[in-house]
Amino acid sequence: MTKKHGRLTEYKKNGCRCDKCRAANRAYNQQRAWRLAQEKWGLKPPLMVDPAPAVEHIRQLRQAGMGAPQIAKHTGLSAALIGFLATGKSSNGKPIQRIHRDTMQRIMTCPIVLAPKRDQVTINSLPALLKACCLRGWTMRQIAEKTGYSYNSIYSLTWGTCRIRRDYGRHIYEVCTQMRITDPPQDTPQQRTQVAKTKAWARKNWPTTACKLGVA
Ligand SMILES: [Zn+2]
Repeated sequence: MTKKHGRLTEYKKNGCRCDKCRAANRAYNQQRAWRLAQEKWGLKPPLMVDPAPAVEHIRQLRQAGMGAPQIAKHTGLSAALIGFLATGKSSNGKPIQRIHRDTMQRIMTCPIVLAPKRDQVTINSLPALLKACCLRGWTMRQIAEKTGYSYNSIYSLTWGTCRIRRDYGRHIYEVCTQMRITDPPQDTPQQRTQVAKTKAWARKNWPTTACKLGVA
């Protein structure tokens, strides 16, 4: 038995009627009755409140472009709760009747904070630069190694079929700007063969770029 007895959830959800759980339920009921009495006589502000203003505020936040995870981050609540409140229904599909005063306050004071748009761009000069590197004899694998990117990323970028975050793109741009004016290592016969093969392959694939660079 690893279940924790003496907790309200055990009594309510799991239906345990052991002494500890019954005591927990009794204590809860007493506290609740006391709280409701105090609220009734205006001695304390209500603990549980109508969720309508919170539901409306979440609707406005989302309309402004905030997602549930972002609202969760700024309110300290779970994204799941924000999701439920956005629909006004709880996990069992029933309308949410009451929410905690604290939850209400957290939501009502949540500012509109827009995340920066994911800075994915097509850097027009990047494919040409990468092709120039290949035409110089650098293999895509070598470019990948030097820029810290995967072979697949470099391949897609060279063919101009992928977008990249601006700052990452700038990094590749800087590294490749150096590579295009440097010869790849040609100390061993293997390296020399590789360079020749890469050059020929690049010239075949990108004759226009090769022409422009005068290496056709
Ligand atoms: Zn129990």
